[in-house]
Formats: sequence, structure tokens, C-alpha cells
Amino acid sequence: STGDIKLLVLENINQTALKTFTKKGYQVEFYKTSLPEDELIEKIKDVQVIGIRSKTKLTANVLKHAKNLIAIGCFCIGTNQVDLEYAAEHGIAVFNSPFCNSRSVAEMTLAEIITLSRQMGDRSMEMHQGTWNKKSAKCWEVRGKTLGIVGYGHIGSQLSVLAESLGMHVLYYDILSLMALGTSEQIPTLNELLNSSDFVTLHVPETPETKKMISTPQLAEMKDGAYLLNNCRGSVVDIPALVEALKLGKLAGAALDVYPAEPRKNGPLFEGDLFVGLEELKSLNNVILTPHIGGSTEEAQSAIGVEVSNALSNYINEGTSTGAVNFPEVSLRGLDWDQKNVVRVLYIHQNVPGVLKTVNQILSDHNIDKQFSDSRGGVAYLMADISSVNLDDIKSIYEKLENTPYRIITRLLY
Ligand code: NAD
Repeated sequence: STGDIKLLVLENINQTALKTFTKKGYQVEFYKTSLPEDELIEKIKDVQVIGIRSKTKLTANVLKHAKNLIAIGCFCIGTNQVDLEYAAEHGIAVFNSPFCNSRSVAEMTLAEIITLSRQMGDRSMEMHQGTWNKKSAKCWEVRGKTLGIVGYGHIGSQLSVLAESLGMHVLYYDILSLMALGTSEQIPTLNELLNSSDFVTLHVPETPETKKMISTPQLAEMKDGAYLLNNCRGSVVDIPALVEALKLGKLAGAALDVYPAEPRKNGPLFEGDLFVGLEELKSLNNVILTPHIGGSTEEAQSAIGVEVSNALSNYINEGTSTGAVNFPEVSLRGLDWDQKNVVRVLYIHQNVPGVLKTVNQILSDHNIDKQFSDSRGGVAYLMADISSVNLDDIKSIYEKLENTPYRIITRLLY
């Protein structure tokens, strides 16, 4: 029963998540901070689910004590603090919240497009330093200008709609063929997009293909006096090449929120935090530098709470692993829980030959209403809804599955 589910929730995660957990009737032990490792090991032994942010390190050494754990919720974007492979091998699904801040990034990008176009960053800096410098030369409206979006995913496509509402013409480039929103237009090559855009904004993930995707040759393809915005990942732009293009006046401005190296905490920038080109960037006109705040809003924080707690409760109550970062993603249509004599079988197992034969032999005396299975690396996950079973059948199915040599975790929902 859901009342038996125990959650350990650390690092003061958002209240929106706690509300979901309370509504579901789980037992929640809540802490405002992370715990010292020995205390964490003691507490994790007992719980089925743990909720963390970035400070709690769930290493193999910690997880090996977590005998009852079925899921980890990272109430943040990153999942580096968890040993994902160890977790998968032990049937522990890990969830995070990659898309909760898409709107925040899109809005900030839009603000920067206008800010660059009007040189507002420089005028504000001058006023702070005591200089009145009213001018209109090389200051433009954005209406009628062309915005080139590289990567038309959650953020890029949201931005497309916002920019069109300002009267901008939107082009996009993506490795996937994607449906255009509004009257935007997909462009077949990056160079063609660079040739035709007044503003180029980057919204691709960090992959080997996107590393230094914008360097000297690509900057040369851009229109004279165009602007470049990077709010995705610091590896995507070659900074010395960008500095050169700005110095030459090839570009009229740039906005950067992400960098090849970023400090771990707030405060002065130290030498170890620096990367080649930062000093020059600081001295150039019409360059907006922000400290990786694209997704940092109150709204995104509460959306994280909703997104991750829903993913966790769907996994606990229904077995749905959609959105897991380390684990096969499996879901079945909702089970009619009021119906009697049905059970949902959740069987996490090693991905080796012969498993499905064994499992279906165990299930074959009953009616398999639906079944779905998927694998990722060495781990596979099978979900099946079985009808015409009584309590004794359910017990027997559970014991037989538990005794298969491939089993990692078996759960039966009824
Ligand atoms: P997404 O996965 O929804 O979209 C990414 C898009 O890029 C996809 O459509 C994909 O097909 C496309 N793509 C991948 N490789 C490509 C390539 N080589 N060339 C062209 N297109 C390619 O991701 P998203 O949520 O829109 O996020 C985009 C980026 O923004 C990510 O790198 C993310 O880490 C970053 N981000 C930054 C902040 C911030 O605070 N500045 C906040 C959130 C996300």
C-alpha cells in the first residue's frame, strides 16, 4: 500500500514536491540540508525512495546500503552526483527535471536580443559609472529582423513563438526534421542559417558534434553586424574566435550565459575559474555576460518540484519509468485499479537471453492483458497487466519471479 512507502527527502526541496508526496499518502522524512555520509548510510537503509539536490553524493559506497531503494529523485537538472550505472544495475531508477526551465531560458534570450539590439547593457553600465551617452546610431528595433535558432527543442521552439509575436522572422536549424511553429522555417544547413540571420541563438545539447560548433569559419558565414547568443553550453562556442569577430566588428554584439569553465560558487572570479578570452570579453562593447542564470527563476524551481515528484509517484504507484535517465523507459496504459483479480507485474532483470521465455512461462496460466518490455545496457524492465488472478496466484507469481536467476527487483501492484 502507498502508506508503507518511505521517502527520505533532503536539501530543502521545493514545497510543491512535498505536497504531492503528502497527497499520495507516503511517509516522508524531510531535512533542510544534506546529511553527513554516515548518517545518510544509516537513513538510506530503510527507505524506498530518496529525494536530493546536487549536494548529496549517492556513490556506490552509499547505495550499497540502500537495500530497499527503488528510485532516486534529483530535484535539479544535473545527475552527476549519483552513480547512475551502479543504480541501474541494482534496479534503481533515477529521475531529474531537464525541461522545467525552458520558458525561463527562452524569456531571457528574448530579453537579450532586444538588449543587444539597443546596446542597453553598455548604456546602463555607463550610467552606473556616471556618464550620460544618448545615441541612436546602430541601435535597431527587432521587428522585421531575422532570428536564427540553432537547436529547435524545448527552448528553441518556445523562443520561436515569442520572437514571432514581436514581429521577428524565425529560421531554425536542427539535426531532426521538426514541425515549424507559427510561420518559422526550417533551414537545411547551419551555414545557410548563419548567412541569413541578424541574430543567431544556440540551443543545442553538449555533444561531440556541438563542441565548438561556432568557430572562425562559422562566424565568417554570419552577416556583418549580426549578434550571437549562447545560453546553452560553454563548449559550443570557440571563445577566442568569438573575441576576434567582435574585435574586428564582424559581430555587433554577443550574449553569453555559459562558459568553457564556470566557478563552483558565488563570489569573485579566481584565476582557476578563468578561461582563455574572458579578460578580452570583459573589455569589449555590447557583450552581455551573465553567470549561468538562464534557467534560474522561482517558477522553474517550483516546476522542478512538480516534475520530479510526479515522475517518482508515477513510478511508485504505476511502475511508469518514463523520463528516467539511467533506466529503460517503460509505461503501460493506466490499470483499472477498481477491477478485481488484476495485478501489474513489474520485473527488473538482467538483459540476457532466455528471460522472457521464463517469465512468460510463469505468467502463462493467466490472461496477460498487456505487456511491454525494454532494455538499456545490461538492465531490462518488463511491465505486464495480468487478469483472472486471486491472492494465491499473486503470491505464487511473486515467488516464482523472485526465484529466477535474472531478477534484480520484482514489484507487484494490486
Ligand atoms: P532539447 O533536447 O529539448 O533540444 C535540443 C535540440 O537540439 C533538439 O531538437 C536536437 O535535435 C537539437 N540538436 C542536437 N544536436 C544538434 C546538432 N548537432 N545540430 C543541430 N541541432 C542539434 O534541449 P533544450 O531543453 O531545448 O535545451 C537546449 C540546451 O540548453 C541544452 O544544452 C541545455 O543544457 C541548455 N540549457 C541551459 C540553461 C541555462 O541556464 N542557460 C538552462 C536550461 C537548458
